[in-house]
Amino acid sequence: MNMPAHLWIGSPADLTQKTITFLQNELCKSACKSCTICIHVAQQQHHSVTWLTPEKQYTLDALSVIFNTISFQLDVDQKHFFVIQHADFLTPVCANALLKPIEEPPAGYQFILLAQRKERILPTIRSRCSIQHYISTEESEYDYFLCHFTKPQPTDAQQFLSDLEKAKPSERTSIEWLDSLLTFWIYTYKKACTTNNVSLQEKSIRRVALLKSSYQTLPMPGSAKLFWKNLFLQFKK
Ligand SMILES: [Zn+2]
Repeated sequence: MNMPAHLWIGSPADLTQKTITFLQNELCKSACKSCTICIHVAQQQHHSVTWLTPEKQYTLDALSVIFNTISFQLDVDQKHFFVIQHADFLTPVCANALLKPIEEPPAGYQFILLAQRKERILPTIRSRCSIQHYISTEESEYDYFLCHFTKPQPTDAQQFLSDLEKAKPSERTSIEWLDSLLTFWIYTYKKACTTNNVSLQEKSIRRVALLKSSYQTLPMPGSAKLFWKNLFLQFKK
């Protein structure tokens, strides 16, 4: 029985670290972090791991290394991992080409897909993966700003406005923050379900819906502040 492919959602830096730790556990029995295996894994140079990164989007050409590699049978105790970074940049053509290898990889081969947003992964891929969300545990330098959107209760509007001035969101960082807030509230919802916290469940559902709909009105150049002000007002409701 093959292990299902993994789809891990989170910030790219966090996911790279998670992947390295996971692979060290798989390849060095004690995940000692100091042997040659662990060091090679950390340097992304271990021969049993193929790391893929898209130029801008993935192309079939870029994925050919996967198809070439899996045409070789591994020894019984051998493992090989494909780490598809930024899997949200798989075009539908590429994603479709990967369906079969992901679902039924030849013995010993395993896929790890990393992405910032689950929504951008084709449902056919998602349904073949075991999905995990990773919440950043490190304090980001923008936590003082994002905490206005992660606390269950509304925060002070004056404080929000002055934090907004300080954070100076751009259109690009706005999307990243939106992604991490969405991950945060999905995670909060799941946690609220396990603890039967109904009011937090309801709050999380409303906020996830709000965040999802705000992807439809992403800020245009120069309008990021206005975007966050609007979101703040909606969060207060
Ligand atoms: Zn080791």
